[in-house]
Amino acid sequence: MQVDYIVLGQGISGTFLSYFLMQQGASVLVIDAMKANSASRVASAVINPVTGRRVVKTWMIDDILPFAEKVYNEIGEYAGMKDVMQSCPVLDFVPTQQMLDAFTKRVDENADYISFSADENGMREYFNFPLKIGEIRSSYNIALWELLAAYRQRLQENSMLLEEHFNWDNCILADSKVFYKDIVAKKILCCEGVEGGANPYFQQLPYAFNKGEALIVSIPGLPQNNIYKMAMTIVPLQQKDLFWVGSNYQWTYEDELPSRFFRTNTENYLNHWLKLPFEVKDHIASVRPANVERRPFAGLHPVYSSIGILNGMGSKGCSLAPYFAYQLAHHVLYAKEIELLADVRRFEKVLSK
Ligand SMILES: Cc1cc2nc3c(=O)[nH]c(=O)nc-3n(C[C@H](O)[C@H](O)[C@H](O)COP(=O)(O)OP(=O)(O)OC[C@H]3O[C@@H](n4cnc5c(N)ncnc54)[C@H](O)[C@@H]3O)c2cc1C
Repeated sequence: MQVDYIVLGQGISGTFLSYFLMQQGASVLVIDAMKANSASRVASAVINPVTGRRVVKTWMIDDILPFAEKVYNEIGEYAGMKDVMQSCPVLDFVPTQQMLDAFTKRVDENADYISFSADENGMREYFNFPLKIGEIRSSYNIALWELLAAYRQRLQENSMLLEEHFNWDNCILADSKVFYKDIVAKKILCCEGVEGGANPYFQQLPYAFNKGEALIVSIPGLPQNNIYKMAMTIVPLQQKDLFWVGSNYQWTYEDELPSRFFRTNTENYLNHWLKLPFEVKDHIASVRPANVERRPFAGLHPVYSSIGILNGMGSKGCSLAPYFAYQLAHHVLYAKEIELLADVRRFEKVLSK
């Protein structure tokens, strides 16, 4: 079998990369082992343009957000889905006076993104909270789990998916070709998430993986048109009354499994924050493919030109992956430049050893 490109991995990175390559007429084979708890299949899938204690805009968001608005709808249409990316304000329950001061300062500076919620009294019906509620507009909720499944089905229908665990022992890189079993391609583009840490060509990159968990909770009566955030975040899911509740960041962990500590802690927190009864339906966990610089790894290997990478999305895959998948696709096809701070060639020295 001969194809232009092998895309390794069908998380959000491999999904968008294969889509953009196909859009330009390239032939693609996606190889993915269907890991039920890959980061993309556990994520709450929120794009929040304003984050952190200082409520500042995230990196490159003024370019990335309009791009995401366009391409999520396009890929959704291709996969036969509507409303993949839905506008969904984040109601930010400000927990301390210090954070309230920071938020107030930002409201004055960034009035287009944030304000104070007009429905504070209405929210007292559902939540206990000490101070005010900030409202972050231009935030979005992505139906990512549904998108990945629908896109995978399209790949299957078009015989573009090989569902197996890719074994590097069966892969040979030549100057302008890649051989994997009976498949010959011009390049292999690796979108492996945390498994990228074992990729023999890119394992020197400065990954800093961290584990995160979430509960899937039924909360009848809680409106599903907002994301609610205090120390935990409550994100509406596609099914009636269901919400994703998380998360935490663990830089040292023994396994990728859900932990009793997280479940107890989160249930206690919900009991204190929520006035409504709730029922835990599921408990999920995964590892974020983060790195010390908090910038993606996108581009071709500085030594082996038949292998490339799209990884390092950290906690922001939903906003970063579409944008840099497009850049990588156009780099590979038309030699277009990749944003310097995301280009994997910044690690040329370590990758050349
Ligand atoms: C709890 C939690 C909450 C999160 N919330 C958000 C959020 O709200 N917003 C946001 O933007 N991001 C969020 N993230 C981060 C987001 O999930 C990641 O940035 C993103 O999913 C990374 O996508 P990826 O495609 O690069 O990797 P992955 O999703 O890990 O996909 C990699 C794929 O490659 C496959 N693969 C790897 N190696 C092989 C191999 N050798 N053979 C076959 N298949 C292989 C895997 O099976 C997998 O399907 C969250 C993450 C976690 C854990």
